[in-house]
Amino acid sequence: MKSIKILIIMIVIFGLILAAGCAVDTDPKEQGPVSHETVEGKISITATLFPQYDFAREIGGELVEVSLLLPPGMEAHSFEPTPKDIVSLSKTDVFLYTGEAMEPWAANIVENLKSQGVLVVDLSEDIPLLERDEHINDQEDEDGHEDGDYGVDPHYWTDPNMAVIMVDRINTVLQEADPENSTYYTENTEILKGKLIKLDQDIRNVVDHSKSNTILSGGHFAFGYFAHRYGLEHMSPYEGFSPNAEPSPKSIASLMETIASTNAQAIFYEELADPKVARVIAEETGIQILLLHGVHNVSIADLESGKGYIDFMYENLENLKIGLGYDE
Ligand SMILES: [Zn+2]
Repeated sequence: MKSIKILIIMIVIFGLILAAGCAVDTDPKEQGPVSHETVEGKISITATLFPQYDFAREIGGELVEVSLLLPPGMEAHSFEPTPKDIVSLSKTDVFLYTGEAMEPWAANIVENLKSQGVLVVDLSEDIPLLERDEHINDQEDEDGHEDGDYGVDPHYWTDPNMAVIMVDRINTVLQEADPENSTYYTENTEILKGKLIKLDQDIRNVVDHSKSNTILSGGHFAFGYFAHRYGLEHMSPYEGFSPNAEPSPKSIASLMETIASTNAQAIFYEELADPKVARVIAEETGIQILLLHGVHNVSIADLESGKGYIDFMYENLENLKIGLGYDE
């Protein structure tokens, strides 16, 4: 049996190297996930992005051991799992991923994981996915990778209502993995959903009492679902979702004209990427530069501080009050 398992892992690794091309260059020691230790008696869960990592630890509490596949501080769109990650994944009980628009590499491994008994969950299955903006054209990033052929915006977690759907799904999965503790998971789920619904109401209140309805972003824009939910517009000089792509001078000029004509107060930058474009625009126009955290992944310091999805979203809301001109 053991040799068959090793063979399967070898096949997966080989398949991944073929698919990824560049995976062999990376040092697994540097890119190791937060934790993949199996703790006796606990359900082990591996999450690709921070939102599902955070929701799983809230719902599963002391009964689960959750690992974040992304190394803390790493920009999420350029991540691909190392062969070591794939081996770790094969040992986890539950694998929660965002969907193939965010994690195209998952397509190569999910069938193998399932055959090894991993409960594989594509959280996008329950989500009404939004198409990418019409003005966004497919383009290639610096590595020559197509920036998503999927035609959908992968950032659904930025809408707290979509987060509620994710939370319900994670609860269902834990019930399946551990039916004995069903009440415990459902109670935690209800508490978390209560907080997400409160967050949704607080966002609506800010949007309803703000002068502007446009989010000006100097980075790749992860808040499409958020903007859609709350009736907001957004402008970003980036096309597509890859932070590695370069914005066009024309789109930067157009953003600067909007800032001048609308008396905008702030331009937003994204987490875990150099905010060079937002900084230049802020300097040129004399407005503030503020963080709009897309919550794909977190820094080591944020992970150690124990901050969760809801904390990041409230920090975003404070900055949005300034950027949108909130008037109590
Ligand atoms: Zn993104």
